[in-house]
Amino acid sequence: MEVLYKSTRGDGSTFTASQAILKGLAEDGGLFVPLTIPKLDIPVAKLTDMSYQEVAYEVMSRFLTDFTEEELKSCIKKAYDEKFDTKAIAPLHGADGAYFLELFHGATIAFKDMALSILPHLLTTSAKKNQVKNEIVILTATSGDTGKAAMAGFSDVPGTRIIVFYPKDGVSPVQEKQMVTQKGNNTHVVAIRGNFDDAQTGVKKIFNDREMAAQLDKEGFQFSSANSINIGRLVPQVVYYVYAYASMVREGAIKDGEPMNVVVPTGNFGNILAAYYAKNMGLPIGKLICASNENKVLFDFFQTGCYDRNREFILTSSPSMDILISSNLERLIYKIAGSEEKNKEMMKALSETGKYEISEEMKAQLSDFYGNYASEADSAAVIKKLYEDTGYVIDTHTAVAAAVFQKYQDATGDHTPCVIASTASPYKFARSVLHAIDASKYDSMTDMEQIDALCETAKVKVPQAIEDIRTAPVLHDTIVDIDEMDGIVKKILGI
Ligand SMILES: *Cc1c(COP(=O)(O)O)cnc(C)c1O
Repeated sequence: MEVLYKSTRGDGSTFTASQAILKGLAEDGGLFVPLTIPKLDIPVAKLTDMSYQEVAYEVMSRFLTDFTEEELKSCIKKAYDEKFDTKAIAPLHGADGAYFLELFHGATIAFKDMALSILPHLLTTSAKKNQVKNEIVILTATSGDTGKAAMAGFSDVPGTRIIVFYPKDGVSPVQEKQMVTQKGNNTHVVAIRGNFDDAQTGVKKIFNDREMAAQLDKEGFQFSSANSINIGRLVPQVVYYVYAYASMVREGAIKDGEPMNVVVPTGNFGNILAAYYAKNMGLPIGKLICASNENKVLFDFFQTGCYDRNREFILTSSPSMDILISSNLERLIYKIAGSEEKNKEMMKALSETGKYEISEEMKAQLSDFYGNYASEADSAAVIKKLYEDTGYVIDTHTAVAAAVFQKYQDATGDHTPCVIASTASPYKFARSVLHAIDASKYDSMTDMEQIDALCETAKVKVPQAIEDIRTAPVLHDTIVDIDEMDGIVKKILGI
């Protein structure tokens, strides 16, 4: 069955998967959504025998129906190879009554690698399929992890360039070092004086600038997006929920057909939306538990039905979740609103007043979701407890999810087996993680001493991504104001 895509704010015009991937964001500012979510028409008993790459093909081929088998398999093969330090690609680790789905075994040790190692290949394949001759320029705003993962994915991929914007004081030292040391002749990194939302809004503005698009086209360039609004990032993320379910069945944690819950540490709402798509494909997922840090816009939304970004932006120790506008939520809003018009109204209210409210009827369709949040103290406590009870060390983002998992079980008494999306390696946030375990022992250490201390504590080998930045030279040092973002893009492209 062919799956076509349309914009959440459009007139109903449809696009093939490869067209939607190429465009990234729809011209009307909306996000591409599939007209129907395809069914997972393959028995779990078969999935349990498959490798990650094989599951990836089964899931992605249902969504990307204009890709040939050969094209898609080639993309998958190039993406999920030795860049990952485990054959399982996304292994499950049972600890303290939950199953941690480790999504951080790729090149940049955070879950963004799961999608960004395949997106460049989906994009260049899409370009070929649609006879695109322009060079593709990826513009991306990052709260820390997307930028590096996108650059690692696109670095030296022919026919592409990538420009990444990050908030100067809004990412961890390791995240910043990872980005500014990025190699590759086609990679560019720019710090902005502002927060992540400023960076994201700036990028969206450039995307919607018709004049600039025309100028680019004349010079042989066109923009695309590696942000989680691109459907080519969402689809690969559906894969690991299906894979996790099959792993749970294989390991005897659940029986075939029984439900599992998932907890997702959430920022832009992309990861949890992928879980929702997996559920809509027919995967037996019970509750989708949305975990926020102190920037708890989503928790308030699930409580009250009112999305309100008018609040203080809090810098936390889980910076990749420090987000007040969760872009991917629009796909869910569109689905429960039932029409482009209604969705458009709400998104207009969001951009003009910073908030919108959904109807009772819409709210009733959110019963698959449960939202809660974890304070900085809650997250630190769970890192310490899990380490002391089991020896397993988790990062600060995963800790938000683990803390919310506890709150969920306490509040509901629901003990359905639960998968926690583990989104970053503790090495990426070593300082905060060690601070949580024993501040008096670790706080005074240098960054590199902490890496060695964590290696001893967690009994996990230091990942290659960390070894790399110990010595790598800084190659990028541009800083600009928010209103200079379009100017720097033109300068980089030489137009
Ligand atoms: C991006 C990110 C998140 C948030 O994921 P969304 O898909 O934006 O909700 C959580 N944890 C880490 C480590 C991340 O990099």
